[in-house]
Amino acid sequence: MEVSGMQSAFPGYAASRIDVDTLGKLECHDVTEEIDEFIAESRAQNAMVLVQSMHTSAGLLVNEWETGLRKDLANAAERLVPSGIDYLHDDMSVRWENICPEDSEWPNGHSHLQNAIIGTSTLLLPAVEGKLMLGRWQRVLLVEFDRPRPRTVMLHLFGLPAASTNGAIDEDAAFALQGTNGQRAMNGNGASGGH
Ligand code: ZN
Repeated sequence: MEVSGMQSAFPGYAASRIDVDTLGKLECHDVTEEIDEFIAESRAQNAMVLVQSMHTSAGLLVNEWETGLRKDLANAAERLVPSGIDYLHDDMSVRWENICPEDSEWPNGHSHLQNAIIGTSTLLLPAVEGKLMLGRWQRVLLVEFDRPRPRTVMLHLFGLPAASTNGAIDEDAAFALQGTNGQRAMNGNGASGGH
């Protein structure tokens, strides 16, 4: 996996991306640590983090990382929407839209449907004191419903920079979060308070 930063667009906002080469059909990829790294780099204290899959046959899920459960998930996906049966999306004699050269080689109608039923394209999660707030066993998973492919997860953070214990804004943190717009944000409202 690769995480790369992006420049802030406006005060209180930071963005980044996680690039994942997925391992194969119905494999889960735990991206929780990459999201926590992004939050730490932004130096946001409290924030909302929007996690976004940029794909139609790979999606996001918050669930437990446990080997048996991951196999159960794969089996459930196959029961819900079996591969190896006919889907109109895979019928190149009738389909005319969005066709890529590999579509006839890699029919993936079932992958889109599994993602539509099981996965989601976006998650909105809170970050508290610089870390994702998740339940004890919750992890953020990218689920591949298609073959091994390069995938991108976008991260968008909306939050407040770290504050010092007396409630004043940590100016370095404000700059890290807000890039070139940091000064504007520090002169703005609302960025106060400690823990
Ligand atoms: Zn497709």
